[in-house]
Amino acid sequence: QQAELAKWVNRPSLSADGHRVELAANIGKLEDVQKALDNGAEAIGLFRTEFLYMGRSSLPTEEEQFISYKYVLEKMNGKPVVIRTLDIGGDKELPYMELPKEANPFLGQRALRLCLERPHIFRTQLRALLRASSYGNLKIMFPMIAVLSELRDAKALLEEEKAKLQGEGIVVSDTIEIGMMVEIPAAAVSADLFAKEVDFFSIGTNDLIQYTMAADRMNETVSYLYQPCNPSVLRLVRMVIEAARKEGKWVGMCGEMAGDESAIPLLLGLGLHEFSMSASSILPARAQIGGLDRKRWSELAEQALTMAAQDEIQDFVRSQS
Ligand code: PEP
Ligand code: MG
Repeated sequence: QQAELAKWVNRPSLSADGHRVELAANIGKLEDVQKALDNGAEAIGLFRTEFLYMGRSSLPTEEEQFISYKYVLEKMNGKPVVIRTLDIGGDKELPYMELPKEANPFLGQRALRLCLERPHIFRTQLRALLRASSYGNLKIMFPMIAVLSELRDAKALLEEEKAKLQGEGIVVSDTIEIGMMVEIPAAAVSADLFAKEVDFFSIGTNDLIQYTMAADRMNETVSYLYQPCNPSVLRLVRMVIEAARKEGKWVGMCGEMAGDESAIPLLLGLGLHEFSMSASSILPARAQIGGLDRKRWSELAEQALTMAAQDEIQDFVRSQS
């Protein structure tokens, strides 16, 4: 079976009727890049940079970060690399940062909220990213955006750092795409407003599901509510894709759902452009997509979205596959 899958490493990701999508890898550590390439990744769809900050006793310097980002960009040799700015807080702690104890950390000062509150930390990361940008095809992505002002503030800081670097004579790419994660229902519902101000979206279903269903992603006792194919979740996904399409922007997904065999036919049908997943899921996903007719699944997905429950939708997908 491994040999069967290996055939797909160097092939483009095409549906049976010739519709092209992009299959990308989620990475956290530098070693993951080689694994992504070995598994036929066409891009890095999510680099979780918090791992550069964890397992140490102080913040990584601008230079340390620059070296890591440059490594990933060079190793990907011109293929797209989506680097997400720091997403700390929630379940990910940094002892040396002395974050305040919160009653509901997943609803607290997490990710971009913390970065905007402590801009010196954020600016260091942005400078490292901008300096690395001339070594490959960098796309910068902001996590946990709920309101437009967060996006605008983050972009303004990025522009300020870019101007400073250019003033210092440092080359910064002027083709960096700027995107945001859609992982808070507020952003999904108003995706049409956000789509005007970004180059791309990446749907973070791990959080989008937990916030939509009000079910902690770490809590086993409510895991029955953690439903990727819940009609409400799928309708949000459809809204995001539609809103981006109207603005001519691309949409990826970097939550676990992107590599979920029972969701892939629906996501293809809804028009998702990029699927980002753990490296080991890429070849099975490429083989699966190769057997799916995109046009047929766009009709089937509409039909699925009229159904009332995840079980019913999953049975339907299985019966049509
Ligand atoms: C997500 O929320 O779907 C996501 C990809 O981000 P993380 O799992 O790092 O929160
Ligand atoms: Mg998330």
